[in-house]
Amino acid sequence: ALPIIPIALLLFGLVGILLLTIPTQDVRDAPGFMYGIVLDAGSSHTSLYIYKWPADKQNGTGVVTELNECNVEGCQRYSQRETPEHARVSGSHSRHEASEYGFVGRWLSPGRSTVGALDFGGASTQITFVTQETVEDIQDMMKLRLYGHEYFLYTHSFLCYGQDQLLKRLLAHIVKSQGYSQAVTHPCFPADHSKTLNMVNIFNSPCTIKDKPETYNPQRSLTLQGSGHYEHCIGNVTELFSFNSCPFSRCSFDKVFQPNITGNFMAFSAFFYIHSILQQITGVTVSTPQQLEEATEKLCGMKHSQLMTLAPNEMARLENLCACSVFIKTLMLKGYGFDDTSFPRISFQKKAGDTSVGWALGYMLTLSNLLPTESVEVRKTLTI
Ligand code: AMP
Repeated sequence: ALPIIPIALLLFGLVGILLLTIPTQDVRDAPGFMYGIVLDAGSSHTSLYIYKWPADKQNGTGVVTELNECNVEGCQRYSQRETPEHARVSGSHSRHEASEYGFVGRWLSPGRSTVGALDFGGASTQITFVTQETVEDIQDMMKLRLYGHEYFLYTHSFLCYGQDQLLKRLLAHIVKSQGYSQAVTHPCFPADHSKTLNMVNIFNSPCTIKDKPETYNPQRSLTLQGSGHYEHCIGNVTELFSFNSCPFSRCSFDKVFQPNITGNFMAFSAFFYIHSILQQITGVTVSTPQQLEEATEKLCGMKHSQLMTLAPNEMARLENLCACSVFIKTLMLKGYGFDDTSFPRISFQKKAGDTSVGWALGYMLTLSNLLPTESVEVRKTLTI
């Protein structure tokens, strides 16, 4: 009988020796992908974002790309079709609680400077940037680890300073300062525009409690007559902020600490919408504080009929455009302290590459930090 076992061992040994002497190279299998779904349950709308990143990540953080986004209806079925179940991560948050490959990767690669974020939503507004200065209020300091690097951020969210709540607060302030009378002059509305609404439309929010009358008939109607009075509009909008008494070495407003503005910024959400329509209507390119003043004054002096001809698609928003522009100007220049040097470093944009810029992308990036990296299979292949 043939000595099968010794022969087999000999053959395996020979193959082993052969493999040791033939040059080989390590081949990494292409990594799988991970998918994340973020529901932005916002005050003014709900959006669903689907993200994707190579599962092996880069220095611990996913290089996140946006696969798709959609608004409310039909979202869930769509996301299930687009993403394999085993690789799905999902979260649902709202802004206040909380690129293409190249973009996110490039921005945050070692040695590169970061981009500060200015968000302006329906209910709140946020400012976030990397700072070397001491953050005097620990609540506004955040340590962030991304792509193997640690960043010290200053961040603050101002509740009731989002676009919709701000407009309510402005109305409440104007109505109160005119003794809650039935006929109200609105200095930020165009002079040829008027509108009737009920008290409840103004005082149905926690943001207007301060100006709410003790007893009132919610169904009582008010008529707002526009006066298009730029200075009075600025006056009333400015009174929505508190610029006095600061418990720290310096404040933005409302007793909130803020270090000096540094670096480049990106302004998105309603900042982007207002900036772009302000430029479109006035024909002024807005990249300096002076240009912002010029465009805002020009817009606030326009008639509603003129605005309708210049931007017919924005009809419902036109009456509030002056108030929103004045607000952005006051917030950015007087509040945050952007000046002739720092304001031009703000880029007003909606997307980075194909990916929408917003808190949902940041949330997905940090969440990808927490997920274990998928080990990539390494195979030896012969190079002959
Ligand atoms: P959010 O949806 O929370 O990001 O809030 C965005 C804010 O922008 C809300 O006040 C919306 O009403 C407002 N908004 C949405 N679309 C536009 C637009 N095209 N022009 C101006 N404001 C807008």
